[in-house]
Amino acid sequence: MINMMIGFFKDYFKYKEPAKKQQRWMEKYCEQNGYTINPSWMMATNLKSNLCEMEETFGKRYCPCFEPSGDKELDKKMMCPCDYVEDEIKEYGTCHCALFGPADLSKAEWKASSKRLMEEYQVPKNLKNGVLDTRGMPLDHRRGLPVPDMMHQVKAVLNGYKGNTLIVIVEREQEALNLEKIAQYRGYRCSWEQKDGFIEAELILRA
Ligand code: SF4
Repeated sequence: MINMMIGFFKDYFKYKEPAKKQQRWMEKYCEQNGYTINPSWMMATNLKSNLCEMEETFGKRYCPCFEPSGDKELDKKMMCPCDYVEDEIKEYGTCHCALFGPADLSKAEWKASSKRLMEEYQVPKNLKNGVLDTRGMPLDHRRGLPVPDMMHQVKAVLNGYKGNTLIVIVEREQEALNLEKIAQYRGYRCSWEQKDGFIEAELILRA
């Protein structure tokens, strides 16, 4: 928990300025659609920081909850605000990431959707002796993508990680390519190779 809070405040200060740009389009979008932004300062701030990070890492404002899939059509649909907002509001009360919801959503409903989201992401990670196996997570039924995805698992493990290297096992080449971009953005070195049925990537965190 303490590592999560340290990570949150690091990102908050890092993205304080660019997050203002996110706030502006989000307010306009909400006004046009009868929505509102998550009233929890921490949730909204975290999602805005994540949106900034997605833009800086992958060059586009992808959903803060899903790394790019490599499928152009799907990735286009996952640009925030994504194509799933309306449907997900019907299912969860808010969009998947609990960033947007109807203007009349009650505090309790916001809380319930935020809790649902946290429970999806705060699952035990398969980390053993410096090897993180990211495979086998449940799939989001709209996007067909894992929750939590490789990116969120790696980020969660790196919060407070003491080792110099992290081996990351992924299923698809796109995940290895995403990991390269994440490494580049964070100043790590990354290499990967195709094994029999999976990809093994190595992140060198410190020289
Ligand atoms: S789920 Fe919410 S935060 Fe994610 S892309 Fe859609 S609108 Fe944006």
